[in-house]
Amino acid sequence: MKVTKHKKARKYMSFYMNNFGFREPLLVLIDGTFCHAAYKARLQIEEQLKRYFQCELKLIVTACIITETENIGGPLVAVCQLLKKFLVHKCGHEKHPIPGSACIRALTKTCNYIVATQDRDLQDKIRSQAGIPLFYLHNNLVPTLVQPSEASVKAAASKTQAKVQVREVDEKTLSNLKKKQGLLVDTDQKPKRRKKMKNPNPLSCKKSKKQKSQNRNPPFSDGVKDKVIEKKKRKRVKLPKHVIEHLKSNKTSELIS
Ligand SMILES: [Zn+2]
Repeated sequence: MKVTKHKKARKYMSFYMNNFGFREPLLVLIDGTFCHAAYKARLQIEEQLKRYFQCELKLIVTACIITETENIGGPLVAVCQLLKKFLVHKCGHEKHPIPGSACIRALTKTCNYIVATQDRDLQDKIRSQAGIPLFYLHNNLVPTLVQPSEASVKAAASKTQAKVQVREVDEKTLSNLKKKQGLLVDTDQKPKRRKKMKNPNPLSCKKSKKQKSQNRNPPFSDGVKDKVIEKKKRKRVKLPKHVIEHLKSNKTSELIS
């Protein structure tokens, strides 16, 4: 189970890295609700997250998140002390703190953060916004990176489409520039040469063969063929001299008579 979880985490994070520019060390923005759940489950947050993501990461809180938890007080005093151990990011609301969820949403617009929260409302808002990984403790216990939301998937698809279009435009402008500078002349000429080489050669070869064969053929036309055969016959029949003389004498006698 653990292996498949790590695989999923890696797969989801590579999606965010490829499409939304997330880089190591990953920045995880933790709110009071997440810290409270981790405290109750006695989770070592930093260790658990490093083991889960299998890479370098930084746990970050803001002044707004700390003051919100402080204001609740009571059972959350220990949680507040835990929060203060993490890196406190300057959010710009130090003089006039705002609710933790609003602060987190404002920060996610400026930088790439993984948001770790158990707050359902904040989770829904994060999921409706593209390109923000959501992390929570499933059943307040199991560290879980949520699958990229529809908004994120759609945004990634439109980004890749835009990239393809930009590439096409870049290639066209590049080829135009090359043509202007005379760099593309060679590439244009090559196919022409090929055409020239291709067209005449097979045809001329065929024609020459035909012509030769046509020239050679006439000796084998009907009339001449017979002559050749006759010649062969004449050569084969070798009559002795006395027979020939006999035949000649017969012919002359016939003529005389
Ligand atoms: Zn703030």
